[in-house]
Amino acid sequence: MKKTELYAQVMAYFKEAIPVAETELHYNNPYELLIAVILSAQCTDKRVNMITPALFEAYPTPEVLAAATPEAVFEYVRSVSYPNNKAKHLVGMAQMLVKDFHSQVPDNLDDLVKLPGVGRKTANVIQAVVFNKATMAVDTHVFRVSHRLGLVTDRCTTPLSVEKELTKNIPPETIPTAHHWLILHGRYTCTARNPKCEQCGLRLLCKHYKKEHKLRLAKETDINTEA
Ligand code: SF4
Repeated sequence: MKKTELYAQVMAYFKEAIPVAETELHYNNPYELLIAVILSAQCTDKRVNMITPALFEAYPTPEVLAAATPEAVFEYVRSVSYPNNKAKHLVGMAQMLVKDFHSQVPDNLDDLVKLPGVGRKTANVIQAVVFNKATMAVDTHVFRVSHRLGLVTDRCTTPLSVEKELTKNIPPETIPTAHHWLILHGRYTCTARNPKCEQCGLRLLCKHYKKEHKLRLAKETDINTEA
């Protein structure tokens, strides 16, 4: 199957199977989303959603957070991974927002990655979710699912190479939603261990499934021949 056809069929499947695809992080404005995405690095959205209501209430604006100490913020974020670093990043991020960006979350990669705690992945999430830009944030789910489905080749060994390949092949207007499709599919169906292939509507298109299926058939044939 040609690559363009594979992409078209995978996107069509997701459109049907996951009609509502959005971030599972809870937030009310770009500032809160930025905080939530920083906290979600190496941590589950569920855990982040448990602590952000109290954090947002205590630090409702960049100005209030910028005036806080990392030690005070730590008390609110202690149950997420790397709480010390994240508390420092949140305060530093808020200080830079106030000082350099009129307390507004920037809308472009170059400015976003200047903020403490914000790398390319976080910047891409913000650009896609807040500003509806055609940016693809490649996290562990997007990376794994793209490889298993065969959307990207084995030569794409870094998140950046996967990002480039996906953005080259997915229509720009679909990219923000495709990002959520790949994440949700990876989180609930194409899980890292024991993917639920038998329940997956993509198995006839999937490179990983076809390979595993062939191996299984080959093994069964061997066993039957030996018997
Ligand atoms: S068939 Fe299996 S490996 Fe392929 S996308 Fe579906 S769950 Fe993932």
